[in-house]
Amino acid sequence: MQEKGTISIHTENIFPIIKKFLYSDHEIFLRELISNAVDATQKIKRLASLGEYSGELGDVTVEVKVDKKKKTITVSDKGIGMTAEEVKKYINQIAFSGATEFLEKYKDKGEDQQIIGHFGLGFYSSFMVAKKVEIITRSFQEDAEAAKWIGEGNTEFEIAPTKKKERGTDVILHIDKDSEEFLEDHRIQGILNKYAKFLPVPIKFGTKEESVEDGKDKDDKPKYKTVKKDNIVNDTDPIWTKSPNDLKDEDYLKFYKDLYPFSEEPLFWIHLNVDYPFNLTGILYFPKLKKDFELQRNKIQLYSRQVFITDEVKDVVPEFLQLLHGVIDSPDIPLNVSRSYLQSDANVKKINGYITKKVADKLAELFKKDRKSFESKWSDIGIFVKYGMISEEKFHEKAKDFALLKNVEGNFFTIEAYKEKVKANQTNKDKQIVMLYTSDEKQQHTYLEAAQKREYDILILNEALDSHFINHVEQKFEVTFKRIDADVVDKLIDKGEDKESVLTEKEKDTIKQIFEDAVNDKNNIVTIESMATDDFPVTVTLPEFLRRMKDMQALGGGGPMMFGEMPVNLSVTINGNHSMVRKILNAKKKADKVSLAKQAYDLALLSQGMLMGQDLTSFIKRSVDIASE
Ligand code: ADP
Repeated sequence: MQEKGTISIHTENIFPIIKKFLYSDHEIFLRELISNAVDATQKIKRLASLGEYSGELGDVTVEVKVDKKKKTITVSDKGIGMTAEEVKKYINQIAFSGATEFLEKYKDKGEDQQIIGHFGLGFYSSFMVAKKVEIITRSFQEDAEAAKWIGEGNTEFEIAPTKKKERGTDVILHIDKDSEEFLEDHRIQGILNKYAKFLPVPIKFGTKEESVEDGKDKDDKPKYKTVKKDNIVNDTDPIWTKSPNDLKDEDYLKFYKDLYPFSEEPLFWIHLNVDYPFNLTGILYFPKLKKDFELQRNKIQLYSRQVFITDEVKDVVPEFLQLLHGVIDSPDIPLNVSRSYLQSDANVKKINGYITKKVADKLAELFKKDRKSFESKWSDIGIFVKYGMISEEKFHEKAKDFALLKNVEGNFFTIEAYKEKVKANQTNKDKQIVMLYTSDEKQQHTYLEAAQKREYDILILNEALDSHFINHVEQKFEVTFKRIDADVVDKLIDKGEDKESVLTEKEKDTIKQIFEDAVNDKNNIVTIESMATDDFPVTVTLPEFLRRMKDMQALGGGGPMMFGEMPVNLSVTINGNHSMVRKILNAKKKADKVSLAKQAYDLALLSQGMLMGQDLTSFIKRSVDIASE
């Protein structure tokens, strides 16, 4: 008996809405249909294992078929199937009201396609690509009568008894004119690769040719022939579902290669596995980082029971860990809710905390077990650790004991150990420990040498993130950082020991005036200091706090760089005890005084890599003149 009816819904015409709002992500219809097929298959397997289904389980491969002539896509499973009553209940009422409710909620938020794209509408998403859908299904129950449901993208449906030999469900989509791209094999294969690669039930799509041994030829060499085999698109037991005890390093490395064919080997990995208070499995890899780590995001794939959901894990994984690669699988991450809800979801928060803790524990273990190897990986791991310490208090608590500082000799220290090391020689008159660093050994060589002459220890901090990290360490460890070119060497660590000046106060004023006229740049601040006679006659520095602000601004990116336009006040420090200063004072002609002062100033700029353009040319000409006098 054929039955006709109307689907009762609140929104009169839901299908145009489905099409319109899910526009950017039409391909997910296939994920939805295959997920349903897989669920139905898992259910029959469970029933069989519980002894509640006594029939033959048989081959339960889910099949996807494309018929280009008929313009159909069929998804077939041998799962539990549905009776006509169940079709009416699940397809007409429940699923449909779910879809309606969902669209009601989101139809005004059309711009955020992403939210919708991350999950589906279930069965009804087929109408994004099909003008007509048939379901032919037969329940696993003994003597069940098969049923055929037809929907044509409006609120009417037809359901009638039909013939079907095997248990399970075929969903046949009659593809719309504007969706014919989905009749291309490569398109379907692409979608399957994205969403179905690790589904727990084998998914077949077409056939592939394989060459197999076929007896021996007359010379007793093996002969080969080509045979057609089912093309199974997925690995039903991906390694994250296995126990770490059953896995070797090779397995982890191979999986990494499968996921990211063009990447270098990862440094190490963490196998995640919890079932309480939430369910989560996965493998996170620490990649070898490239300098521009921004480009490496979206490398963690999120799955829910082996169904790929998204590679935008923003809300689930703490930001600093989004540089990691790998997979996370959790049925407890709510997918059919909005972003803001997700962020406040208790499970998501717990998951966040758990992953953070796991990563910190793994790093602590590596550090303890093999410090040398940990140090050798520091240039790659350092970024995560620093980023993590800055952004997550909990991570800081653990990482403070294994975060490393590296000095110019290439030795590594934990922060506490380094504090101890430099305490004796690098404490200033205010009892503050001053940690000195260079961001560029070559460019700051003059300063480096001067500081080393004082037997100061110099750290290398040359990564983009380091200006933030330095601030963080200053706050947490009660130390002060100074870049070696932030001040003249005697003032880097001000121990309050003033050297005696060979200049009288009057001479100081005279020299100051000469320099102010000579360097002729009102924004620079000229001071006279009594320094060692073998220190440089003039030193040009940019105060630590100004430079750091500038660095942090550059890292922040985006907005206009304040320092690009604003003149920066350089500090010009004259070494009153240097013989060159005496020479300037003693020079007869004003022109000679000015020329010498300019020369000393330019040399200081040169050592900072700041002498450029016309100034550089003038300097060279002047040097030639002085040399030929
Ligand atoms: P969801 O899968 O989110 O529940 P759907 O609209 O995709 O929503 O499906 C609604 C219901 O229809 C399913 O929960 C299931 O009971 C039934 N169903 C859908 N597809 C199949 C299938 N291939 N085999 C058996 N039952 C199915």
